[in-house]
Amino acid sequence: MTESLLTAGTWFMGFLGLATMMSLFSVTAPYGRYFKPGIGPTISTRWGWILMESPSVFLFAALVVINPPKSAFAWLLVALWEWHYLYRTFIFSSILRRPKKPMPLSIVLTGFCFNLLNSTINAFALHNLEQPAGGYFYLSIFGFVLFFVGFYIHVRSDYLLQTLRKQGENDYKIPKGFLFDLVVSPNYFGEIVQWTGFALASQTLPAWMFAFYTVANLLPRALSHRRWYVDNFKEFSTSKKALIPWLL
Ligand code: NDP
Repeated sequence: MTESLLTAGTWFMGFLGLATMMSLFSVTAPYGRYFKPGIGPTISTRWGWILMESPSVFLFAALVVINPPKSAFAWLLVALWEWHYLYRTFIFSSILRRPKKPMPLSIVLTGFCFNLLNSTINAFALHNLEQPAGGYFYLSIFGFVLFFVGFYIHVRSDYLLQTLRKQGENDYKIPKGFLFDLVVSPNYFGEIVQWTGFALASQTLPAWMFAFYTVANLLPRALSHRRWYVDNFKEFSTSKKALIPWLL
């Protein structure tokens, strides 16, 4: 019973990924630079991020304690998951330069529900996971490397974006340096590389669904960001890509 519910939840997430990608190509999620007053109740951006991401820290940890992984390999993946989500929930939210900027509650609640599902299917997937053998082991090592590279790229990009504004400033600037010279959203690129690495390292269907969902969510938004820079900055270099250096 639990098994079939988890399988259904995992495929549902794949469906959500497709639906999200299709809708985000026509409507950009109204937070950050796309926020406009009058779209329902709001919450501060800082508390929005903390609330939205908290299931990925707390529910995931609780499920792992109730259903502990049986291999050291799976525990390593648990540690990486928690490492990322402690960063996103508590550190990223605390370095925001405009922490009180409103975020629609609808976005926060949608993200919260998504994280409930994602944490559940991924925590259960790690329960029976053994260390891969043969060629799969080397694929897995490559996945760990990608995870760390992606984490470095997105954390460094998050930090550079936050340092664009001085305390109290609200306006937008063209980010420069690091991968910002090649793409407008290296933070999204790093996030995608990281979760692709996690999926390669663990080789579980829920981790692959999450990697797919991350692309589905962030690719259309990176394209919107690029259009936004073109529309708002005359000096924006149109040779700069949206998400993937030299490609897209
Ligand atoms: P954005 O790049 O839109 O914004 C990130 C932060 O940088 C915001 O505080 C924003 O301010 C600020 N910022 C962005 N561009 C500029 C600029 N040109 N000048 C000044 N400040 C700027 O990212 P998101 O908020 O969408 O995402 C934040 C993080 O969460 C990213 O690392 C992303 O990868 C991750 N994420 C992951 C998802 C997943 O599916 N796994 C989904 C969504 C996000 P302001 O708020 O004022 O715009």
